[in-house]
Order: sequence, then C-alpha cells, then structure tokens
Amino acid sequence: AGEIDESVSGGGVPPHLIEFVYFRKDGTKAQLEVSMSGITYEGKPSYAIVLRDVTQRKLAEEALRQRKEELERRTNHLLAVQKVTASIQSTLELSKVLQQVVEAVVDNLGYDYSLILVLDEKANVYRGMVFSPTDQPEQLERLRSILTRELTQIELPRVRGYSRGVDDSLDGKVVITSHLHEIAEPPLSREQCDAVQHLLGAKKFISMPLFAKERHVGAILAFVRREHVTEEELEPLRVLADQAGVAISNANLYHGVTEMALRLAVTGEINRIIGSRPDVRDVYQAFVEEVGKVVDFDRASIALVEGDQLRIFALTADVDSTLFDGETLPLAQSATAWVMENQKTSIEHDLAEERLFPIDERLVEAGYRSAIRVPLFSTGEVFGIFSLVSRQPGVYGEREREILEQVAGTLSTAIENSLLFIRVKEHEAELERAYEELKTAQGYMVQSARLRALGEMASGVAHDFNNVLAIILGRAELALEDVEDEKLRKSLQTIEQTSIDAANTVRRLQDFARVRVDRVFELVDLNRVVEGALQMVESRRLEREETQGVSIEVEADLGELASVAGDAAELREALVNIVFNAMDAMPQGGKIAIKSRQEDGRIMLSVSDTGVGIPWDIQGKIFDPFFTTRAPEGTGLGLSVTYGIVTRHGGTIRVESTPGEGATFYIRLPVASGAEEQKWPKGEPPAVESARVLLVDDDEDVIEVLGLMLEQMGHQVTGHTSGKEALEAFGQGDYEMVITDLGMAGVSGLEVAKGVKEVNPEIPVLLITGWGVQLDPVDMPEIDGVVAKPFSKDMLLRRMAELLPAKRQVKKA
Ligand code: ADP
Repeated sequence: AGEIDESVSGGGVPPHLIEFVYFRKDGTKAQLEVSMSGITYEGKPSYAIVLRDVTQRKLAEEALRQRKEELERRTNHLLAVQKVTASIQSTLELSKVLQQVVEAVVDNLGYDYSLILVLDEKANVYRGMVFSPTDQPEQLERLRSILTRELTQIELPRVRGYSRGVDDSLDGKVVITSHLHEIAEPPLSREQCDAVQHLLGAKKFISMPLFAKERHVGAILAFVRREHVTEEELEPLRVLADQAGVAISNANLYHGVTEMALRLAVTGEINRIIGSRPDVRDVYQAFVEEVGKVVDFDRASIALVEGDQLRIFALTADVDSTLFDGETLPLAQSATAWVMENQKTSIEHDLAEERLFPIDERLVEAGYRSAIRVPLFSTGEVFGIFSLVSRQPGVYGEREREILEQVAGTLSTAIENSLLFIRVKEHEAELERAYEELKTAQGYMVQSARLRALGEMASGVAHDFNNVLAIILGRAELALEDVEDEKLRKSLQTIEQTSIDAANTVRRLQDFARVRVDRVFELVDLNRVVEGALQMVESRRLEREETQGVSIEVEADLGELASVAGDAAELREALVNIVFNAMDAMPQGGKIAIKSRQEDGRIMLSVSDTGVGIPWDIQGKIFDPFFTTRAPEGTGLGLSVTYGIVTRHGGTIRVESTPGEGATFYIRLPVASGAEEQKWPKGEPPAVESARVLLVDDDEDVIEVLGLMLEQMGHQVTGHTSGKEALEAFGQGDYEMVITDLGMAGVSGLEVAKGVKEVNPEIPVLLITGWGVQLDPVDMPEIDGVVAKPFSKDMLLRRMAELLPAKRQVKKA
C-alpha cells in the first residue's frame, strides 16, 4: 500500500474520496473510506482505488468535537459567571447582588427558574429573596395562589431537622432531584410542591448551598425543564454560588456597617431634636421624620393612656379616616392594653391574616397590613405606645423592634417632659386664677366688713330714732283725729308727714343695714319686678324727654325665670335705684338695657347704661351709705339700700364700669326652693276678729299710742309697763294675744314671751322693737311675729292678721 500511495500521489491529481457506512458481518457499524485517484499505470491512464476502514478515526473525531463543544460551553458559562461575579463583587447592596445572581442563573447558565434564599441572621430564618424570571406575570400570579403568599415570603427556620432541604444545605450538599418536595417540604406542603412542579413544567430541581467564609448563608434553587443535568453542568452554578456567597457576606457586612452608621445618625439626630424643641408636637414630627429614615411606615401615631381611655396624642400628617388626632378610645382591648400588660412590643405581620386587637379592623379597612407598637415607659410603667403601620405585610421584625425600642426611650422622656411642662403651666394658671379669686373675695370681704360696721352704727341710730318717731307719729295721728282747728291740723299733718319721711330715711338705713326682718317674703317673679320698676321710672324718663329734650331708650330682654323668695316691693326699689342712677349718668341721653336670665340655680339681672361710667377710684365706694358724687340732690343712700336689699335676699351685687363708657350692675339672686314655695303662699291676709290683747312696753307713751291703735281695730287692750307685772296679769286673765317690747329693764320682752308660752304655748306673741329686729324671729320659737318701730296702723294690721286667724282656728277646734 505504501508503494501505491507514493506512486498515486506522485501523479499530482488529488484523489476523489467517498465515505460509506456499512455493517460488518457481526452486525457492527463501520465506516469505509474509498479514495479514487486517476493514475498512469504502465503508460495507460488508470484508477487507483483504496478502501480504508476509518471507523476508529471517526469515533475519535466525534469525541473530540463533542469535547470541544462542551469546553466551549463551559468556557462560555464560566465567562458569564466571571462577568457576573465581577459585577456582584463590586455591588454592596444585597438586593442588587441577589438580583444579578438569579438573573445570571437563568440568562447565562441555561436554567429555567431560579430563586435565592438568604439567611436573616437576626431572625435566624432563611427567606426567599428574589425570583427569576419575572417576565411571565400570569405564571407568577398562579404561583402566588398556589403558595398563598409571595414567593419572597417563604421562610425556613435555620434549624437542623426542620427539613431535608435545610439539613442538606447546611451540610454543603448540592442536591439534584426530580421532585421539588425533596428540597421544599416543609415549608411547602407536598401538594403545593407538586402543583408548583406542574405549573413550571420543571423536571429537575437543584439546591446549591451558599457559603460565605464557611458560614452557611442560604441557597440558590435552580429548576430546569430538561430531563438530565450532569454533575459537570453544575460546575458554573457552583462557581457562581461561591462568588455569590462572598458577595452576600460583603453586602451584609456593608449593610451592617451602613445600617449601624444610619442608626447612630438617626438616634443622634433624635436626641438633638428632643433637646432643641420645646413643643412636643414639633418634636414628634421631627422624630417621625428621622424614624422614617430607618423604618418603613405609612402612618405613625402616639397614643397616651388617660384613665380608662386612650387618647391619640399625635399623628403623622397623612391622616386617613382610621384615627384622628385627639380622638379617644376605650383603653380595654386596645393594643395599648396588651402592650401595657405584657410590657413589650407587639408586632403584627399580616393584619389580613390575623388581627390581635379591635382597632386592627379599622386598620385593615383602611388598607393597612402590618403593625408594630412599642411601649413608652415612664418609671417602669407603660403610659402610651408609639405605633407604626404599613400598607405592606411583613414589614416589621426584629430589626424594627430593636431600632424602635432604642428610640422609644428618648421619645418617652420628651413626651413626659412636655406633659409635665403642660401640667406645670396648667397649675400656674390655676394658681393665678385662685389668686385672682382670693383677691376678689378679699375685696368683697373688706367691703362687706366695712358695710357691716356701718350697718351696726346705722341700726343703733335707727333704734333711737324709731322709738322717738313712733311716739311722734302715733301722737300726731291720734291728735289729728281729735283736732278740728285747720291751722293745727296743718301743723299736725306736717309733723305726721315729716315723721313718716324721717321714718323712711331710718327704714332705708335699716334696709341697708340688713336688720329688717319684719317683712314676710313671698314668691316673686323678677320679670314682673323689672316691669314694675320700669313703670315707676317711666314718668321721670318722659319728663326729662319733654322738659330737657334728653332721650333715653330703655330696652328689656327678659328670659324665662323661676321665682325667688323675697319682697317684691323691696326688690323693685333696689332696681329703681339702679335705673335712676343710670338715668342720672346719662345727661345727654343714651340707652339702658336690662337683661334677666336664669343660669344654674341662680337668677342674673343686669342693668347697663351708656353713661359717664364710674371712675376707678370710687368703684369700691359707691355702695357705702351717704357716698355720693351728686350732692346736694343725691343722698348717697340709693345704692347702699339696694346693696342691703340684695344681700338680704341672699344675693350679690357688683358693678363693672370703664370710665367714659357706661356702667353695668349685675345682681344675682338664688332661685326659691320648694320649701320656700310652701312657706309663702301668695294672697292678701284676711280680716281679723277682735281679741283680748296684753300689751307690754316700758314706755308709757308707746302703750298709749299702740293701745289706741289696737282699740281702733276693735281689740280689747290691757297695758303694762313692766314684764313682771304683765306675766302676773297673763296668769290671771284670759288673753288671746301678747304684744311686747323687746328691750325692757328687769324682765325683757324675750322673757315675757317665754313665760307666756310656758302657760299657754298657743297664745301668739308679737314683738315690737326699735331695733328694727336684728333678731331673726324664725330663730326664736317663743316669738310668733315682729313689728318694727315706728309702725303704721297698716303694718300692725298685717301682723295681727298673720297671727290671729291661726289662733282662732285652734280655739274653735
Ligand atoms: P346717689 O345716687 O344719691 O348719689 P347712690 O348710692 O345711688 O347715691 O350712688 C352713689 C354714687 O355712685 C353716685 O353718686 C354716682 O357717683 C355713682 N353711680 C351710681 N350709679 C352710677 C352709674 N350708673 N353711672 C355712673 N355713676 C354711678
């Protein structure tokens, strides 16, 4: 063959090659190469045909080719991995690292799906982080519904024995399996695994552990639709996993450092804010802003405990309808109650799945999914909570708890301080108010003490005057009945009138001195009193309008009022005094406004004018008797009488005036109680029948005048000038009534009364006194009635009428 070869090739014409596949006798396949070359053999053109069995060579060639291809593919994979690793090594953000890894697994390493699970060191769980591909939303949606959660919400605890998948991975084993459940159950159920397998159409499942410096940090899961995956094919994935492990650990390290730095910055800033702003709401807003740099949330709030209520103290600006600033909720069953009781942070991962507290219903309705509530402590007690909620589920975990608990302390202090500050402020305001009240009360006390002293003096004067006037008036009245001479009658009438006038002045003094208790209170409608007073001032108003052209407008705004217990005539006088003063204060005219209102058990009457007002320095004196700025016409008694009347009715009076801008007088009177309504029925006293009367007074003139008056009323009168004598006479006689003076030498009027009642308690005793009766007859059971000197016949008649009919009825029975 060697010779032929040489000779053939020596011809210079290339040989013609044909290959055949043939089967040998034993049935094996072989390849035959036929080479045909044209030659000149012994001078003639000829063909040289060579048959060669090339089976072995062909096999070797094929193997070589395959080897080359395989090498090329692996080189490509490794090149891709190298590219990816270069990129991931330079990335420090974990999520980006993971993204690049799973994308490389699918795009460069020829796998169909990839998921990466990474260890959360704090929580000690592996979490599904990133999944690829993401360009088939429909499939992803179905995947979610099979898993009933996001792929990235899959969690596996880092404990041996939890699942084969975790154990193998921890052991560093690469697992290739045809059954997903072998690596994914639990946390998935067998059914879920099968459904996923079916959905993805994957045939092989690979779990590649991830290590960083010999520490297990997670796993790459790669799925393929191919039937076969060789060990060799895994090589690039392994390389990628090695690089990914390093990158993850770098990213974690970096994240740890930056997180630490960020947290430090945030806590530092929070401390600074809290020290620098006085207003707690400012502090809160800035606080929340800072917290937002390290923890995600959609709404933040602070709730504080107030008794059995919870008050929303502050809320982030983007308020929804869930809660309102300042709103209060019952504490029981709130998240705060739980936090208080357990003294720890509460975390809710998914409100859609499970709700711990009633308030969560509202959160869910508003679209929130997860919540964290951190206790705010003050001296070991929980006084409120700081809450963050998010529209995303699973936002809050160990990391957030750690951060928030760390800053909650500072927040607590700030809130506590500000509450303390508010309380101090409130306390200050309270003290100030109390001080003001005390000052006013003191002013009132000084005023009423002064007025009381004046009143005592006035009543002393009045006593003596009354005795004297009683005699003058009585004598004059009696003389008038006998005297015919016109000139004398005139004189007597002048005496009578003058003593009546004098008696009036004395009475006004006594009114002021609050010593007159000889009048019986009845139920009074103050609005009618106002109307009566206005009628009384009307003539003066008209007169001034007509003669001086001064127009005064009077306006009454009367509210619905309950009755007061009192003397309508006195109250009317009190009011008339004020209105007259108001008119006097408006020489150019103006307006008087009277208002009546009932406010919690008291009646308020106000009289305002648009007059000259009262100078500051005399505002404290106007109620003093004889104080006037209008002498000589003014007596200075008007307001003092008004003061006496109002105080005697259990009321108060005060004035408010800005000089030049008018004055307003305020009268407050208590509303009559039910008991008073029974005690003072309205109506005129009936006429009385004649009675046998025992009269006692150490002043013979008084006995004479009074005796005559009583006789004119039809009574039979026996008079005595000493109490002792009178009591003796009472024991012997058949008297139906006793009238006695109070102040007498020896046996006093009070003793007379006692003696009478000892003998017969049913005999009425009437006390007459020049003291205008400072003794309240209600306090003395022996005294049935009081008449003040000087007395008119009319007054005597009224008193008798009150006492005698009752006596008659008793006697008849
Ligand atoms: P009189 O009216 O006799 O002077 P009052 O006791 O009634 O006595 O009043 C005392 C003083 O109070 C008056 O002289 C006047 O200076 C002042 N006064 C009272 N009411 C008013 C008023 N409405 N406007 C201005 N001053 C008033």
